[in-house]
Amino acid sequence: MHDGKRACLGFHTRASHIPGSDSAPHGATNTPLYLSSGFSSDSADDLAERFAGRRPGYIYSRISNPSVGALEQHFASLEEGRGAIACSSGMAAISTVIFSLCHSGDRIVAGSSLFGGTLLLFESLLRRMQIEVEYVDPGDTQLFARAAEGAAFCFVESIGNPKLDVVDIRAISEVCSNANTPLVVDSTLATPYAASGRSLGAHLTVHSTTKFVAGTGNTVGGLVVDTGLFDWRTSRDPDVADSARRFGRELGFLAFARRHVTRDTGNGMAAFDAFMQCTGLQTLGLRMERHCSNAHALAGFLEQHEIVESVNYPGLQSSPWHPIAARQFGRKCGALLTLRLGSGSRARRLIDALELSINTANLGDVRTMVIHPASTIYRDVNDRLREAAGVTDDLVRVSVGIEDVEDLKDDFDRALRRSAVE
Ligand SMILES: *Cc1c(COP(=O)(O)O)cnc(C)c1O
Repeated sequence: MHDGKRACLGFHTRASHIPGSDSAPHGATNTPLYLSSGFSSDSADDLAERFAGRRPGYIYSRISNPSVGALEQHFASLEEGRGAIACSSGMAAISTVIFSLCHSGDRIVAGSSLFGGTLLLFESLLRRMQIEVEYVDPGDTQLFARAAEGAAFCFVESIGNPKLDVVDIRAISEVCSNANTPLVVDSTLATPYAASGRSLGAHLTVHSTTKFVAGTGNTVGGLVVDTGLFDWRTSRDPDVADSARRFGRELGFLAFARRHVTRDTGNGMAAFDAFMQCTGLQTLGLRMERHCSNAHALAGFLEQHEIVESVNYPGLQSSPWHPIAARQFGRKCGALLTLRLGSGSRARRLIDALELSINTANLGDVRTMVIHPASTIYRDVNDRLREAAGVTDDLVRVSVGIEDVEDLKDDFDRALRRSAVE
């Protein structure tokens, strides 16, 4: 199937059909798992040409591998992007962007509600490298526009984890483009099912594929995608601008990142993980459809429940971010919801009383998962940033799975009643 035809097809069709699979060896319908560290050449000259970047071809799996390449190409096509780099985790994907675009002394502008792991990276290693992070409310476009001037890049989550605030990516992207500053969007919670990175207007997207892409919680991975919307020849980073002059305006970032971050730090994805995630990707649309409808139904049920203080889900009318979510994602508001129980001890008693829902730090799994963020993911984050992320002591985060929703309602109803007994 050629690329032009593919672009006209719906999400489920593009997710289930692997691009380029019509030329797979032996007519294999899945990209084979290439467990080979190195790749041989016919001649010394040929290998030298590959090293020089003048001839295509694999060299060594720390840099690139055909199984990993298949995931990169497939995911990039769902994001309507120009290409992607697969990394060993979502955090490695964020690190790849930082290493590619930042020098010591630089400043990053970040949305004020971020995933705990990202905050830990920003507040620890980046400080040691003299890279400053300025946190700005992405709901305030004017403030964001001022901050974006002169920054190495801007960083927001399309749906915040766990605040579940929804950022107007198009508006933020416009102010970033005016400042000639790339906008990087962590779209782990939305996934390309809710909206492709390019349609949102992001310049780069990062994803933790550990979550919805893998789907069954058995592998860790991440991706950086270039949507092709930023002209890297104009990059403030002289090395990336140089790379864009050599490899083209749209490929300058990816070429530099692959050569100097993936190759030189060894933070790329392993072939086995890519193979697992390619398998997950083929059913992403189907699972997301169910994740979203289950989350919506469970959020509605919990909102009516007498023992719950409040429920936060962007698909509910009561969410302050519902209008942006509806405009940007339609009914595809993701699988995460949070509830407040009035006290930390009640929140923890609810988690202990749930039987079906698993108490764990993961999310995006086919099984429903719950966690008490204040005492776990956010325990080492300072009070100011924890508060900005919406993490209170009485908050429970729920990643709604694909079970029968009536079973989930029963599990929560029974556990809520038990948690109310002191
Ligand atoms: C989980 C997560 C990450 C980190 O991904 P890992 O694969 O665990 O490294 C980054 N951003 C968001 C929004 C996440 O949920």
